[in-house]
Amino acid sequence: MDLDLVLNKLNEDERKFVSTLIDKDPLTGAYNRRKFEQDIALLGAMYKRTNKGSSLLIVDIDHFKEYNDRHGHQEGDLVLKQVTATIEGGLRDYDKIHLYRYGGEEFVVIIPDITSDEALGIGERLRAKVESSCPVTVSIGISQYRTISEGLDRLIREADAALYEAKRKGRNRVMAYDEASHVTAEPAREGQSA
Ligand code: GH3
Ligand code: MG
Ligand code: MG
Repeated sequence: MDLDLVLNKLNEDERKFVSTLIDKDPLTGAYNRRKFEQDIALLGAMYKRTNKGSSLLIVDIDHFKEYNDRHGHQEGDLVLKQVTATIEGGLRDYDKIHLYRYGGEEFVVIIPDITSDEALGIGERLRAKVESSCPVTVSIGISQYRTISEGLDRLIREADAALYEAKRKGRNRVMAYDEASHVTAEPAREGQSA
């Protein structure tokens, strides 16, 4: 049955309630993967009007299995909520941003109309915020896109490649996939010369 047909039969309050159940992850309140796949397709139309492109960030909690093993799954769940709130707080200043829980301890952020360098800056700020306010750290991989015709698979693959590099380099860091060189770049950290 078509979801829109069902939603159209509801009044506005009912529709909002059901939409939240469908679109959001119950544990963290972040949007879920189903919504991510829907949104990224819809975002297509917007790219034509922007000139900078948009960025996709994959945020993955470091050594989270170890954290669960040491403190228990329930404590782990609390940390997932805390990391979600920290990321949301760090993104507050930006318009049209969506945060999605993409997998167990993995989140995706889409930021429209920014350059890769700007995305690196935002990623670094999120990383530092989590480090200073949560009992875990995160690694972040970033990919950059201009049109959705470039393919969702490529976007995820490149952000994943950058994330893998961040993990390989020791975790608690941010890396962006660079189209030109196919190597990854990372931002300067506070107190570190470029
Ligand atoms: P890495 O730094 O390489 O990412 O290591 P990791 O341990 O975070 O990665 P791995 O993929 O080995 O393990 C992910 C862990 O995330 C394992 C699983 O128990 C935990 N996890 C996934 N979903 C949930 C959840 O909903 N609640 C809790 N408490 N833990 C979860
Ligand atoms: Mg993971
Ligand atoms: Mg992890």
